[in-house]
Amino acid sequence: MVRTIELNKRQEHILQIVKDNGPITGEHIADQLNLTRATLRPDLAILTMAGFLDARPRVGYFYTGKSGTQLLTENLQKIFVKDYQSIPVVVNENVSVYDAICTMFLEDVGTLFVVDQHSLLVGVLSRKDLLRASIGKQELTAIPVNIIMTRMPNITMCEREDLLIDVAKRLIEKQIDALPIVKQTEKGYEVVGRITKTNITKAFVALGQDM
Ligand code: ADP
Repeated sequence: MVRTIELNKRQEHILQIVKDNGPITGEHIADQLNLTRATLRPDLAILTMAGFLDARPRVGYFYTGKSGTQLLTENLQKIFVKDYQSIPVVVNENVSVYDAICTMFLEDVGTLFVVDQHSLLVGVLSRKDLLRASIGKQELTAIPVNIIMTRMPNITMCEREDLLIDVAKRLIEKQIDALPIVKQTEKGYEVVGRITKTNITKAFVALGQDM
């Protein structure tokens, strides 16, 4: 069930009164419930903030007619990559697989972005890319990451202004854990951030708490 907000009995009752009688003033709602206007104020604020009710000055409260799902969809259209982005961890394309493994541990990330000498994005390294390279008997200090990385133009990217829900769809569709947030320049793409499944989980939790 997508209706994440748990309304209490009184709030459900208010909602019903407004559905049946709206537009109706706070005063009149209070009368019907035998409560004071002050007691009711927090409930009305919650119902209005969550989008179930709307208030017009001198008219009163009315039911917006929006379902929990509609409200959730509306809220999702307001969450952008820039609201939840993390700092990117980048390595140069010439560093060794060994150094990339150390960076991944030290920086505590699951995905590294690989850049060239102009700091432009050329590849992505995931945990499994590094594990795969470690399975063989090769000398890990001698293999540069640009041999094993996923490279341009096969990188899935996003921009700060993209909707987080669209990034979430891309992660699922491509079966990956992270996207570089890029800024396009004349020469290529600069990496300006990182968005991962963890960022999206945080947004999901915040959305649940908001409602
Ligand atoms: P893991 O391989 O550790 O499970 P991912 O699922 O993120 O991590 O990566 C799967 C594969 O997809 C890896 O080979 C990785 O290089 C590649 N990959 C990861 N992120 C991207 C991306 N944003 N664009 C293109 N390829 C990616």
